[in-house]
Amino acid sequence: MAQRKIEKSRRLFKRAQKVLVGGVNSPVRAFKSVGGFPSFVVRGRGSKIWDADGNPYIDYCLSWGPLILGHARPEIVSAAQKAAALGTSYGIPTEAEIHLAELIGGAFPSIQKIRLTNSGTEAVMTALRLARAFTKRDLIVKFSGAYHGHADNLLVQAGSGLTTLGSPDSAGVPKAFAETTLSLPYGDAASLQEAFQKWGTKIAAVIVEPVAGNMGTVVPEKKFLEALRNLTKKRGALLIFDEVITGFRFGFYGAQKIFGITPDLTCLGKIAGGGFPLAALGGRRDVMDYLSPLGPVYQGGTLSGNPVAVAAAIAALRLLKKENPYPALYEKTEKLVAGIKTEANLSRVSVSVNSFGPMFTVFFTDGPVYDYASAKKSDVKKYARFFHSLLNEGIYFPPAQFEACFLSSAHSDRDIEKTLAAVRRAF
Ligand SMILES: *Cc1c(COP(=O)(O)O)cnc(C)c1O
Repeated sequence: MAQRKIEKSRRLFKRAQKVLVGGVNSPVRAFKSVGGFPSFVVRGRGSKIWDADGNPYIDYCLSWGPLILGHARPEIVSAAQKAAALGTSYGIPTEAEIHLAELIGGAFPSIQKIRLTNSGTEAVMTALRLARAFTKRDLIVKFSGAYHGHADNLLVQAGSGLTTLGSPDSAGVPKAFAETTLSLPYGDAASLQEAFQKWGTKIAAVIVEPVAGNMGTVVPEKKFLEALRNLTKKRGALLIFDEVITGFRFGFYGAQKIFGITPDLTCLGKIAGGGFPLAALGGRRDVMDYLSPLGPVYQGGTLSGNPVAVAAAIAALRLLKKENPYPALYEKTEKLVAGIKTEANLSRVSVSVNSFGPMFTVFFTDGPVYDYASAKKSDVKKYARFFHSLLNEGIYFPPAQFEACFLSSAHSDRDIEKTLAAVRRAF
């Protein structure tokens, strides 16, 4: 395979590094964990993106999850254009916000009331503040390898033992903040039980990705999520499902429906925002009513419920509801994942492929991968070579091992075949 052209992206990255920190506006875009430098994108359409040097790529990153209907879906673009032409922001209520809240509420029976935010980080941050106010407790339990945005409290790694409090995972997070967070192994209900025994009367909430996407795709056992629900209920803590990735990813609902669990609060973003900066927090009415202006928990946003983003989100959710692309998405992903496994076997490459609906990760380990510790056994150098080999052939996987690949309704059988041919050569 000839090296693809990369001169324009190379020049752009040089220029970007002078004025943007690391040349990017979100760290993982900088290719640090795979080496090299990012391709600068100029446009997207359907399953594909094109970079500044004119190279096309079949995109399995999809803006890190939101674009389940593919890039620049005409109905979504035109809804945003129409809304923008009427005014891009008011800071005054609009009817469309009610409509979006009703649509989301219809898909998530656990969501009785909603607050729209601009990012998943904000939704999560608010959920924690709310849980703390409601329970009058301070501690938060999260799981190692989970990512819930970059709020101070959640940039925390596991302490030295199962039931020690966490330490900061980022500079600039006060130790005292990190110490309000317990980080436990994903999937390990026994350690949660232990944590509740030790800290039970102080735990305000347990926050979990019901299918993990941020250590790569990791699917929990149903009984783990059930244990979370039972333990939190018994101990007076709230259960927060961070469905920023999983919401509307598997169907016109959340992972909570698949596992039959009703969380107290749910965080949404990514798909729910239709590719725009929009996220949401929703849940039990009595908890949500703790939010200002009804309750004592402050939260606000100049651009929250932005009319352009809301119009795009409504358009996206309506399309998902109407077209039900999910069965086809499952089928295409199964075909791709089965093909990747076959190619790995034929080439004698050790991989463990985790998938759940239209979401998967190729881990470079014998596996199984069921939590962060087992995910970290992956050979990230091999992933980097795999990634670059695919990139060079016009296949865009996320530029880091511990991320999920996504499919969109725009991915065709031809895309899958091309991808499998490139995967074969990469292996
Ligand atoms: C992406 C993500 C977030 C953060 O959302 P942002 O919009 O990037 O702030 C939170 N939780 C999960 C599970 C995510 O995948």
